[in-house]
Amino acid sequence: MRAPNLAHFTFRQMLELEACTRCGECIRWCPTFNEAERDEITPLEKISRFRSFVKGAYGGFIARLFGHRPPQEEDWERFSSGVYDCTLCGRCKVVCPVGIDTRPLWLAMREQMVELGKYPSAFDALRHSVSEVHNISGDPNERRVGWADNLERKPEGLERKEGAEFIYFVGCVSSFYPMAYGIPQSFVMLMEKAGVNFTTLGGEEWCCGFPLLIAGMSKAAEECIRHNVEAVRRLGARVLVTTCPSCYHTWKSDYPRILGEPLGFEVMHSSQLLVKLLEEGSIEPRP
Ligand code: SF4
Ligand code: SF4
Repeated sequence: MRAPNLAHFTFRQMLELEACTRCGECIRWCPTFNEAERDEITPLEKISRFRSFVKGAYGGFIARLFGHRPPQEEDWERFSSGVYDCTLCGRCKVVCPVGIDTRPLWLAMREQMVELGKYPSAFDALRHSVSEVHNISGDPNERRVGWADNLERKPEGLERKEGAEFIYFVGCVSSFYPMAYGIPQSFVMLMEKAGVNFTTLGGEEWCCGFPLLIAGMSKAAEECIRHNVEAVRRLGARVLVTTCPSCYHTWKSDYPRILGEPLGFEVMHSSQLLVKLLEEGSIEPRP
């Protein structure tokens, strides 16, 4: 019988809960609902349920009409399954005629579910791994550049070189999962060929925090965020570049928002850097 904690929601999000017209347009386009066909997954249903939880707990027209009924444990559990089965693809935002910014709303709902302890247990293992060893695989974090072991020639200054202009943030998957080693291997070879002055954070690179943020565990993610930003600032690089799209999104959008200040260095995706190097003629595609 726990009430929603409205501190997880911005004023705009509270308005969005009211603004949903129940038109149902989002249902047609939700890929998860179309596979699973469970009502609690749909944007319409998530918004309606949460709105009724708020009104049941704090009052409002529905509460006045039907009586004051705060959400029960089973209500939260059913709601949680819909909130976590969503893939966060954001398609519902694109089609919503009212313009509800759905993805941040689903993330705020996940923060709420973590506070209530109603989230998939797999996220506990993830949080434990990231807080204990600072990566998602559970490997020793000093092995962050293990992917470079079988390069013909290991680039000089690959780890924490002072004075490097670029810091390559490799990301947990490319660092620890051999099937992805080809990504950092190819990227550093291209940067070397182009004469880019780069380094990595080596064992000082921690998970970017993306998996925790999408789990609704932003407090745990914040520790990673503060650590990574300080590690980059200490080396004084001008640009942080990443091959992983999730790392890129998190560094570019979530880091400044969560820290409440500019990072003080540029964030680029590897594709942007490669275009720049091609335009400058520093690398050339094979004919
Ligand atoms: S499309 Fe937007 S307004 Fe319509 S039901 Fe879905 S969330 Fe509500
Ligand atoms: S973000 Fe979630 S609710 Fe929206 S369309 Fe994608 S899966 Fe469906």
